[in-house]
Amino acid sequence: MGEVRPIVHVGDPVLHRPCEPVTRFGEELAALVEDMFASMYAAEGVGLAANQIGVPLRVFVYDCPDADGVRHKGVVANPVLEPPGLGERRLDTGDEGCLSVPGQYAPLPRPDTATVHGFDAAGEPVTVTGTGLLARCLQHESDHLDGRLYLDRLPAKRRKQVLAAYQAAQSAIADNSSL
Ligand SMILES: [Zn+2]
Repeated sequence: MGEVRPIVHVGDPVLHRPCEPVTRFGEELAALVEDMFASMYAAEGVGLAANQIGVPLRVFVYDCPDADGVRHKGVVANPVLEPPGLGERRLDTGDEGCLSVPGQYAPLPRPDTATVHGFDAAGEPVTVTGTGLLARCLQHESDHLDGRLYLDRLPAKRRKQVLAAYQAAQSAIADNSSL
């Protein structure tokens, strides 16, 4: 059983710079992955990148339904997203959110299928292909490890709105807890 660790929010430098590649696949990584799953489930997320709990390593976990409602669970270290094939490109225009920008959602078009290549926690090669929310998740988590939030892909005006709403919600929480 992993330990639930606090999730860092937008503005924390660890979210805004690229993570380091995983070079050792052993007990330490396995323990980190356990903590990531525990933290993701506690926050009711469908994916989590290591830097979201403050660890700047290129690894993410997911437990997420695809377009057919089938749940997929796993871990990918050193992920490399395959570019979407020309001609088969279709965009999913659904909303996106992030545990590091809690409570906020915004429409963000993404390719509706994604394939990522990487390694599992034991260092064995893995390839994950996802549709629907899983496709969005694989792209979102890979972005995290490059130091990019979904906010960075929004039009500037929308990004400002989402950040303002997030900040208003955070200061409301701070006001309440001081009572
Ligand atoms: Zn996120």
